[in-house]
Amino acid sequence: MPDSEGAGPDVDVLIVGAGPAGAAAALAFTRYTGLSVLLVDRSGEPGLALGELVTPGVLPLLDFIGVAEALTGDGHDPAQGVAAAWGTADPMPRDFLFGARGMGWHLDRTRFNRRLALDAQRRGATVALRTRVAAIDPGDDGGRRWRVRLSGAGGARMVCPRLIVDAGGRAATVARRLGARRMAGDGLIGIAAIGRRTDAAAAADGFPATTLIEASPEGWWYSAPLPGRRLVVTLLTDADLARAGGLHHADAWHRALLSAPLTAARAGPCDPLTRPMLRAAHSQELAPVGGPGWLAAGDAAAAFDPISGLGIGHAIASGLHAARAGEASLRGDGSPMRQYARGVADNAAQYRTSLAATYAGVTRFPDAPFWRRRAGHGIPDAAA
Ligand SMILES: Cc1cc2nc3c(=O)[nH]c(=O)nc-3n(C[C@H](O)[C@H](O)[C@H](O)COP(=O)(O)OP(=O)(O)OC[C@H]3O[C@@H](n4cnc5c(N)ncnc54)[C@H](O)[C@@H]3O)c2cc1C
Repeated sequence: MPDSEGAGPDVDVLIVGAGPAGAAAALAFTRYTGLSVLLVDRSGEPGLALGELVTPGVLPLLDFIGVAEALTGDGHDPAQGVAAAWGTADPMPRDFLFGARGMGWHLDRTRFNRRLALDAQRRGATVALRTRVAAIDPGDDGGRRWRVRLSGAGGARMVCPRLIVDAGGRAATVARRLGARRMAGDGLIGIAAIGRRTDAAAAADGFPATTLIEASPEGWWYSAPLPGRRLVVTLLTDADLARAGGLHHADAWHRALLSAPLTAARAGPCDPLTRPMLRAAHSQELAPVGGPGWLAAGDAAAAFDPISGLGIGHAIASGLHAARAGEASLRGDGSPMRQYARGVADNAAQYRTSLAATYAGVTRFPDAPFWRRRAGHGIPDAAA
């Protein structure tokens, strides 16, 4: 996707990170306010991310920012539901089609992220890829504008936004520069590999159009069909356990896969397209989630264990709420910002309770460290 032509230095809003949260915030600003927006991402292509299942609840959010067709008309595969071999080895299906909101989607994440950023650009946001924040200083006009030095493919330049939205994912680099702290709730990582199947193997899949979740002694696995007959298979485990078992190496990862027989059967006929890739997947909260002239959105504000089913939907909703709160704060109304911070905190508290209950549902590996750590004690501290 081409970068937009030159944003002026006095842009109203600088959004750092063009993932789902940043793009949704940009779309909300451009659709509902007259504020000028600069959306930057350090990568050349927003979206080389893992995480593909979106539940039906995402559609109304996309509709709200005027991009509902980003799901329905863009080559993503309908997702029928989730099957989970969790408390027992027998998979329990949960079918979206029996819910009120219709089906979910297995996304081509790269295409989805690119589409949202492109739509934001079409609606008037300036988009600059391969661009990162090199320095941030409070401006010298009584604090009404920041002075932000950006560095990127086109060299360095200065912008002076009135509001900064950190939508840079778990790293929350901008918020941390502004004094916020990240608090990790555990040491979860995802080790994912993508393979391609033949038409015959895809047709023989016992879980068509379904995300399969399967607990194993090492942690738990999810596998999901992706557009183009691809299958993503991910082991979720703790970073220290992965290190000790060398689970990021392809041979150890494949050996571990054998202890999740349903996933192994599904992945068996795949030709590998990637080696196992490592991603942070821990629960995380940020404190504070905002301050004068800035706020964090999406994973930067609060990041969740993928078992929660939050993630992309939360990131989009959070981008919308952040835009609403940020716009109000620029008009001198601080109350939506306080509500935003309270909403993030309440959500995180609810999440912690339900996550502990979810993990307590697995008692069949009493000697496995991953499960012992989670047995009835809520979430452990981050592994060193
Ligand atoms: C293994 C795994 C599986 C998952 N599965 C699912 C799933 O099936 N369904 C689901 O809904 N969610 C899933 N998730 C979660 C989901 O991927 C995230 O919640 C979602 O991507 C968060 O969106 P975001 O926009 O907040 O951040 P991100 O998607 O992380 O985007 C952040 C963007 O900011 C850019 N950036 C970062 N720092 C800077 C900087 N300093 N300057 C400029 N740019 C920067 C990055 O390049 C990136 O494009 C999964 C996560 C993991 C780890």
